Amino acid sequence: MTTNLPEKELLLLDGKAVAMEIKSEIAAQVDKLLHEGKDAPHLAAIIVGEDGASKTYIESIERNTKEVGFTCSVYQLSENISEDELINVIDFLNNDKEVHGYIVQLPLPQHISTQRLLKHIGPQKDVDCFHPENMGKLVLGEDCFLPATPSAVMEILKRYHIETTGKNCVVVGRSNIVGKPLALLLAQNSADANATVTICHSKTKDLKKICARADILFVAIGKPEMITEEYVKEGAIVIDVGIHRIEDKTALKGYRICGDVKYDEVSLKASAITPVPGGVGAVTMSCLLLNTLKSLKG
Ligand code: NDP
Repeated sequence: MTTNLPEKELLLLDGKAVAMEIKSEIAAQVDKLLHEGKDAPHLAAIIVGEDGASKTYIESIERNTKEVGFTCSVYQLSENISEDELINVIDFLNNDKEVHGYIVQLPLPQHISTQRLLKHIGPQKDVDCFHPENMGKLVLGEDCFLPATPSAVMEILKRYHIETTGKNCVVVGRSNIVGKPLALLLAQNSADANATVTICHSKTKDLKKICARADILFVAIGKPEMITEEYVKEGAIVIDVGIHRIEDKTALKGYRICGDVKYDEVSLKASAITPVPGGVGAVTMSCLLLNTLKSLKG
């Protein structure tokens, strides 16, 4: 049967476009700093061992910092480095006036206590927002570095003029790096937030029902394509933070990249959605760069 009703438009929330916009704004600010005779922002990265995913991320940092005119230093350290030796490198970066911000790439080898280590990062240079002081400021709604992935989500909402005030937002996932800080940002009493937020996790009962009430559904669970159309209200906005490489014999490479959301189904029901790849993940790096610029400006 044919009808004259217009087809529902799906808004694709393009992370690559958002990232390009943020990076060009950053590059303009770096130009301005250089014209004023000031230093370019300097981001350092510590990587311990030979983890493949971590190396790819560090390469991406090198590429992106170059694009916007930052200085970048990489400290590639041995898998066998002791905790005290690693803390010495951190102390060195804390005191190096030429470095404005740095990250310690996780995961660290098992013999190193990540929690102890993260507390050594100077809060003023903690551009990943891992230090308890910065997390505390985030809880209090004070000016601070914002963790890159939640911040990427907020940038997408802001740049697509998606109103969150008074909206029923459901965040699935409560990790310290994604779900928890994202929920805090959404619930903040600020121009970009003011949502009513529900946090769900693996012990949540009636997850489907709760998700299906969301005006905006945020998914960060680490389970490929778990969120099907049954979890989504007609016309909801869906932000998929998940990213996975899954086997696909029909694909040329033998695998494909997907998120925590079953895109083919959910995109028929949602009014707007972030794709994977090309959604939240594409914006994360720009948010790390924003933090580094913020660190230089003080
Ligand atoms: P974690 O594994 O640290 O946390 C997953 C969260 O999801 C936990 O809170 C867990 O609950 C919850 N969860 C797991 N299974 C279920 C379930 N069946 N029902 C409801 N809740 C569930 O993951 P991260 O937060 O680090 O990452 C989440 C996803 O985001 C991953 O796919 C990751 O690859 C991706 N990611 C993407 C980034 C980007 O830049 N795009 C950056 C970082 C992560 P509980 O607490 O009870 O265990």
